[in-house]
Amino acid sequence: MKHIPRKRFGQNFLKDPSVLDAIIDAIAPRPEDIMVEIGPGMGAMTERLLPHLKRMDAVELDRDLVSFLKKKFKDTPLTIHQGDALAFDFQSLQPALGQKIRIVGNLPYNISTPLLFHLMTFADHVRDQHFMLQKEVVERMAAGHGSKAYGRLSIMLQWRYDIDMLFTVPPTAFSPAPKVDSAIVRMIPKTSPVPCNLENLSKVVTQAFSQRRKIIRNNLAPLFSEKALELAGIDPAKRPEQLTLEQFITLSNQLQETR
Ligand code: SAM
Repeated sequence: MKHIPRKRFGQNFLKDPSVLDAIIDAIAPRPEDIMVEIGPGMGAMTERLLPHLKRMDAVELDRDLVSFLKKKFKDTPLTIHQGDALAFDFQSLQPALGQKIRIVGNLPYNISTPLLFHLMTFADHVRDQHFMLQKEVVERMAAGHGSKAYGRLSIMLQWRYDIDMLFTVPPTAFSPAPKVDSAIVRMIPKTSPVPCNLENLSKVVTQAFSQRRKIIRNNLAPLFSEKALELAGIDPAKRPEQLTLEQFITLSNQLQETR
């Protein structure tokens, strides 16, 4: 089939076999896995995963690609769900309690942040996630405190996942080539994330980073007095990127207590 890539669906298809092989090696699929691919496109990753699996699911938005994939993978255990991954109920794929799903995908970069937050709501049901994303986004996801890339995305996601950037992928590995470098990220949900109200965490983090170069005494003034920061064991003269994940969680829990 001749498919003209649709920019609005973030369609950059992987074509480099060595990159595809490296991704499959990183995922290390096993026959019993409950594997779901987001955005299979023309099926470059799908066809390499399927031989390892007893079943596989995929969620694809583009109707033309769905009919192409249905023909291409007619005699395989692949179930294709036509629809928006941002609205998809990933828990519905879990065959039994205790059998966690694995999610993979070369994701559409234009929806990566909302998609990562949508997926976080299913983290209890997920064993791991391997994604291709814009390299700069992966750097932010995996950044530790003190680094330039550390911010809202790092803190919100690291509350729930252990995150590792595995390797980078150049634009030439895709067709059409994206304008940016890409990277593969591995996300493993933490078994017991520290209890925390996500809404409050988001509020504190957004406020703390509202002006990156300012110290938190100023940025957090609408939420915490200097004294409250000190009582929480946090130096009010620090810049937001110097605060650890644990310190942000402490603050968000305090917000809950004072409301
Ligand atoms: N996996 C293929 C590959 O590596 O060649 C395609 C990757 S391409 C970057 C992203 C894919 O996600 C496209 O097939 C696109 O149609 C699909 N897509 C875009 N938005 C989507 C959404 N909201 N839900 C599900 N799939 C989506």
